[in-house]
Amino acid sequence: MFSKSYSIARATEMGCCSCFGLIRKPKRSLRPGSGSASQVSQQFLLDDSLEDMDGALYDGETTNTSHEGDGEFQSHNKRSEEILMFRIQNGMICRETPVKETHQLIRSEDEDGNKMINEYVRERKIGSGSYGKVVLYRSTIDEKRYAIKAFHKSHLLKLRVAPSETAMSDVLREVSIMKMLDHPNIVNLIEVIDDPNTDHFYMVLEYVEGKWVCEGSGPPGGIGEQKARKYLRDIVAGLMYLHAHNIVHGDIKPDNLLVTSTGMVKIGDFSVSQVFEDDNDELRRSPGTPVFTAPECCLGLTYHGKAADTWALGVTLYCMVIGYYPFLGDTLQDTYDKIVKKPLSIPEGINPQLRNLLEGLLCKDPQHRLTLEAVEQHPWVIGEDGPIPRYICRCKRTSFQREKSDGKGDADMTSTD
Ligand code: ADP
Ligand code: MG
Repeated sequence: MFSKSYSIARATEMGCCSCFGLIRKPKRSLRPGSGSASQVSQQFLLDDSLEDMDGALYDGETTNTSHEGDGEFQSHNKRSEEILMFRIQNGMICRETPVKETHQLIRSEDEDGNKMINEYVRERKIGSGSYGKVVLYRSTIDEKRYAIKAFHKSHLLKLRVAPSETAMSDVLREVSIMKMLDHPNIVNLIEVIDDPNTDHFYMVLEYVEGKWVCEGSGPPGGIGEQKARKYLRDIVAGLMYLHAHNIVHGDIKPDNLLVTSTGMVKIGDFSVSQVFEDDNDELRRSPGTPVFTAPECCLGLTYHGKAADTWALGVTLYCMVIGYYPFLGDTLQDTYDKIVKKPLSIPEGINPQLRNLLEGLLCKDPQHRLTLEAVEQHPWVIGEDGPIPRYICRCKRTSFQREKSDGKGDADMTSTD
């Protein structure tokens, strides 16, 4: 059998859940095969070499997906771009400063031999993305540090994520969604460098230096209630902003929640996010991370993206305060079975308010799951800090007309009204 820590590492690295045939995060996904879900996952759990696969894995076969489903997915993707264009054309974008678009790339070296791209000097690699890498750079213009997500266009174009779609469209959608966002609890996209004469594509992001050590097997008992409350309040603020703009994040988990040096959490990684025209957030596929996947997504049915984000928030809170995953099996299928069927187990002695919040977030029935609005009002979330500070959005979307509160949280609230 697998050791728990081994299973934890493997199960959290699997990028694709109910769609074995649809590769969205190739480094962490499964090659479509002919076996059952559990056979595929066993193979995945056993075979380390799969980690290094970097090729176009989609070979036209699917295991548990239909072509009808793929068509639906593609049309949704196309629709996403149309929604983004519509919002841009109609001034429905919150950002005060648009994302800078640079179409010329100059690669050079500084006097110390450090590699440069345009005005940015390379310092060190800080992360491995599914489609590329994340590198820390320093700008010679403002001397600030930036995290740059780097891709090779030819590589993205080779990676099939659906029969007629490549990873390039995923990256372009990530960029388009980030272009709309402006919130203190969301990582800011500063610039996109895309020179048609080179193969490189860069997303220049604000650098969030803090690390969150909460990888499921984190400290026994988690990070403590106070810190967890503070983090949760930040995540809820960012997630409510996203949902109010009909954006589903799709991959809420500690890995994608960055912490600033002052302890503020910022939501990052919009690589599997989706934007919707209206409040109908129905999705068919869940490309997030298995242990954070909501029960309704494990079943492969259509589901509501916002409620699935809320479940992932619950798993994240559980990890923060308890220190391990609520539902984890030795295989992918076992993990899904536990998510769907196993009753939630919360250790004795936990603060009853916190228990109540966890039970509400990790309610298997999405219809009865706590909404983010209810989370915001929950006594454990309010604690001694009071209501989560309110944010007034520049695009003035009616669904997000919120007044500046007298809350005393540390989010940098802005209002142009
Ligand atoms: P992927 O879609 O491949 O998961 P992410 O956007 O999550 O890509 O980036 C991968 C990793 O790079 C993150 O888990 C994080 O460790 C690091 N990273 C990404 N963006 C930033 C950032 N703005 N500041 C600091 N580190 C970052
Ligand atoms: Mg990520």
